[in-house]
Amino acid sequence: MITITNLEYKYTNFKLENINLCVKSGEILAITGKNGSGKTTLLQLIGGVLKPKHGQILIDDIPLKKNKKIIGLVQQNPDNQIIFNNVYDDIAFTLKNYGVNKEEYDERIEEALKKVGMESFKNAETFNLSTGQKQRIVIANMLAIKPEIIIFDEATAYLDQGTKMIIYKLFEELKNDGVSVIFSTNELSEIVYADKVLIMDNGKIKSINNIEEVVKDLSVFEERFIPLKLQLLSLLKLNCKSDEEIIQKIKERLKW
Ligand code: ADP
Repeated sequence: MITITNLEYKYTNFKLENINLCVKSGEILAITGKNGSGKTTLLQLIGGVLKPKHGQILIDDIPLKKNKKIIGLVQQNPDNQIIFNNVYDDIAFTLKNYGVNKEEYDERIEEALKKVGMESFKNAETFNLSTGQKQRIVIANMLAIKPEIIIFDEATAYLDQGTKMIIYKLFEELKNDGVSVIFSTNELSEIVYADKVLIMDNGKIKSINNIEEVVKDLSVFEERFIPLKLQLLSLLKLNCKSDEEIIQKIKERLKW
């Protein structure tokens, strides 16, 4: 379980503060909010890329920097994360860094590529790939290390609708394997894939709710989210008897 208490981080013109939250094993947390609200900063703090100024992040009661659990971070721009010219070499390098035995490389690389629908790209040149394909290679890198916590910073931004569906299914598989999944998104329709939804506003948590509560109480959305609100409302007219049924219908509608 990830437990964050009074977390604070400052840039010259921006302050992330009063961040308190828990993410359990096998839980999916979506983080949304306006551009510049602090989503990436928060994800980088959890991913250990940034060090908090105040407050703490515990993983199963152990401070983040002493924690032995594997945390995978898929950052926004895949070009910054692919190092090698060849897909296999790129993932093998990540495995080497995580101390994985060489004998396991083939199986782990093939399995990870399959999960993102890139199994035929094992020996491809990375520079020939589209941005969306590169993003999937970065995700495969993070799956290959078998993380217990995985963080996706707008990881579906460069993907087409079909490929996005592969990633949403992946969230569910990771959840079923007990992995904590945290993803940020600007596409509000993606929040239905989460168990909990956190809305960031100017460096603070505006709200954090279960998806059932979010769907029920659409007032958490701002004016600019009205199109989505209408979309969800039209879905809610599907004559559902319970919250569970509403969520199920939304998932069906999105062909999950
Ligand atoms: P989001 O992911 O919600 O768009 P970010 O966490 O990227 O938000 O950014 C939050 C704020 O911090 C923004 O105002 C941004 O300009 C600022 N910021 C982000 N990175 C840096 C940095 N390296 N140096 C200074 N300010 C930064």
